[in-house]
Amino acid sequence: MTTQSTLNRALFDQVMVPNYNPAAIIPVRGEGAKVWDQDNREYIDFAGGIAVNCLGHCHPVLVEALAEQGKKLWHLSNVMTNEPALQLAKTLTDSTFAERAYFANSGAEANEAALKLARRWALEQGGEEKDQIIAFTKAFHGRTFFTVTVGGQPAYSDGFGPKPQGVDHIEFNDLSALEAAISDRTCAVMMEPIQGEGGIIPATQEFIEGVRALCDKHNALLIFDEVQTGVGRTGELYAYQHYGVEPDILTTAKALGGGFPVAAMLTKADIAKSLKVGTHGSTYGGNPLACAVANAVLSVVNTPEVLSGVSDKHQQFVAGLEAINAKYDVFSEVRGQGLLVGAVLNERFAGRARDFLVASAEAGLMCLVAGANVVRFTPSLVITDEEIKEGLARFERAVAAVAQG
Ligand SMILES: *Cc1c(COP(=O)(O)O)cnc(C)c1O
Repeated sequence: MTTQSTLNRALFDQVMVPNYNPAAIIPVRGEGAKVWDQDNREYIDFAGGIAVNCLGHCHPVLVEALAEQGKKLWHLSNVMTNEPALQLAKTLTDSTFAERAYFANSGAEANEAALKLARRWALEQGGEEKDQIIAFTKAFHGRTFFTVTVGGQPAYSDGFGPKPQGVDHIEFNDLSALEAAISDRTCAVMMEPIQGEGGIIPATQEFIEGVRALCDKHNALLIFDEVQTGVGRTGELYAYQHYGVEPDILTTAKALGGGFPVAAMLTKADIAKSLKVGTHGSTYGGNPLACAVANAVLSVVNTPEVLSGVSDKHQQFVAGLEAINAKYDVFSEVRGQGLLVGAVLNERFAGRARDFLVASAEAGLMCLVAGANVVRFTPSLVITDEEIKEGLARFERAVAAVAQG
């Protein structure tokens, strides 16, 4: 049963920095929404690499794009531009509110660029006083020091010395709190349309419209962090398209490369001009290999078939989870949009999301938590009905194991 490989979990503790605590199993191969470990044990993947593998594992269109670009040109640096990057910027600006793109390699980096752009822009608008950044409790914006400070969770942001200043946090979905906090000194408001790491908490329609109006009133930029909600996850290319409320800056990463690291910050031409030549940059950002893969991702995801399939699969998840709940009474609510689904544990199981994760792995299923009280599902957008059914059956076994102690 246990693997003979010397590349095992025990080695992790000997050679890796201990900031992660990975599972005991080590996956070695994947196809679609299935993954196999070193012992050739099969798992259904409802985690999708935390909302990254939007087309599952080794999707043929992505494999082909990677192989083809891999034979042509991998990297140049931003001393030159390249065709895949130009194509990606064209597709993203054609498909969204945006007119300009900046490429990076991760969500945190795209958010870092968004925040630095907002500060530069505000400096030009209102002088040095206009530096306040407002964000929300339970937010997550990445792990660079600026983004983790804006995310505002002490467990992630404390203990690293003095933080970037001018960042304030208020309750999510509380418009009067925002009204009290915002002023002409506000540079930007940053938010996730649906809070991911915080527990799959959607912004209400009224809130998101109110935030837009308050930003307009005080000449502050509205930044939507769509790192988790973007690239078809909710059934639209970006979640803001459901709300009909446009940001000034949007960040996208995770699913953009379907598993290859690539990210983008999107904005309007007027705002973009504040990042003049030399003010910001990245060695890898927008490299041909990453952009070629992202172009392939969008060529598949940004189609009516895939996007409408997401809502259909959402229904299958909700129906399946509700049926499980009717038998075992473990959830108080199933929430989220598209294939960003959160099953919220009821009082009896409060704080035990991790137990469900562990039991799921034992039943041959990968899922995620979002905080201590929410089991999160972010599978491939093209997961088959059969895989959903089998994964839910395995999840039911896991729920039964936890519920029956
Ligand atoms: C994952 C995530 C990030 C950070 O992305 P990285 O690629 O890990 O830097 C930022 N914002 C949100 C909403 C996320 O879900």
